[in-house]
Amino acid sequence: MSLHLYNTLTRQSEPFTPTRPDQVTMYVCGPTVYNYVHIGNARGPVVFGVLAALLRRRFGALRYARNITDVDDKINAAAQQAGTPIRAITDRFAAAYREDMAALGVDGAFAPDIEPAATDHIDDIIAMCQRLIADGHAYAAEGHVLFSVASFPGYGKLSRRDPDDMLAGARVEVAPYKRDAGDFVLWKPSSDDLPGWDSPWGRGRPGWHIECSAMAAAHLGETIDIHAGGVDLQFPHHENEIAQSECAHGGKTFARFWLHNGMLNFAGAKMSKSLGNIERVHDLVRAHPPEALRYALLSAHYRQPLEWSDALIEQSIRTLDRLYGTLRDLADVEARAQIPASIEAALDDDLNTPAALAEIARLASLARKAEGDARRDAKAELLGAGLALGLLQQAPEVWFARGADHSDDARIQALVDARVAAKKARDFARADEIRNQLASEGIVLEDTPQGVRWQRR
Ligand SMILES: [Zn+2]
Repeated sequence: MSLHLYNTLTRQSEPFTPTRPDQVTMYVCGPTVYNYVHIGNARGPVVFGVLAALLRRRFGALRYARNITDVDDKINAAAQQAGTPIRAITDRFAAAYREDMAALGVDGAFAPDIEPAATDHIDDIIAMCQRLIADGHAYAAEGHVLFSVASFPGYGKLSRRDPDDMLAGARVEVAPYKRDAGDFVLWKPSSDDLPGWDSPWGRGRPGWHIECSAMAAAHLGETIDIHAGGVDLQFPHHENEIAQSECAHGGKTFARFWLHNGMLNFAGAKMSKSLGNIERVHDLVRAHPPEALRYALLSAHYRQPLEWSDALIEQSIRTLDRLYGTLRDLADVEARAQIPASIEAALDDDLNTPAALAEIARLASLARKAEGDARRDAKAELLGAGLALGLLQQAPEVWFARGADHSDDARIQALVDARVAAKKARDFARADEIRNQLASEGIVLEDTPQGVRWQRR
């Protein structure tokens, strides 16, 4: 079977062939950088990173762009609250995002080639607004530029909503300068205390949707092969991207394939910042082996919801223990990673990562039984299967060293607590004894206003 992907646009699984096999293009909507991202926001980058690596293998050339939204009202609010310049917020959280994604193994073949920032494309955005106005798809009013939804008969073709539903979904506030309630903002005026750029419509800033249309065109061309993002972006964001891009480019198809990943559920509820049940990647990668988080994110099919829980993380750690255990048993064998056809077949089936993970388990069990020369082939396939998914690429000792440390944390914390208690009870001999024991294990203690912290030297 060749690569098949479920296309939201047609609601069908379709064979994927790029427009230009020597230059496959993919765009994934990236973060708005005003805070640390929660684990739900990592699912897209992880899953579509696996797709990126597959496209690189299959076609040899991929241009993959994932944007950074660095102008947004949420950023302005965060800067105001922190009392810092906007740039300090966006720089800090864009860097944190890259770090967090790299920790989850979204690097190398899994990472985007281009990470365009919206503020580097203001000229492109203004030019696109001008083109849309010239062609009657947009209009200026009171310092705003609005897209005229009525001018694009194809509006709604991705989300397949009727106009009334769309209005309800967008929670549109009907401003007096709008011709139609469903018209959306391409450009809006900025007061002096907000970021703004000179434009034909006065000092202002772009709306969110047009950023992606302008950046996709600037880096990947007017028609792209694959556009991906979370299912929560399908409407209105992706619908609006289509309207802007296709109207600005004479009706040319904007994206041939639309892929959408499902949301994470946390204790049964959709995980979002507004619900407050945030599990930040930044914290999770410090509390757990990041490879286990990656495994957990790949454990369900990307279009399905994923139930996120501590039990899922623990299960992922145990599974990786078993797989790395197999590799450790094969340490005496030299083998080069070779991606098995069965793994490619699973991924060709609309990125069926749960099937690929099941196949890895099967390959590991074969490897455990293998003897003689078959051990080398078994190891090569197991390493190759991991390579396709961004798993199993550490030395087993490195994995187990961290695993041991991880399970050892509770014991160390108990010793630290015991030392605090001993000091409180003025049993300084006991406190020193514990400190010496911890020091001999390479544990450094630090007194902070929040209490005693420890870390490994
Ligand atoms: Zn976007």
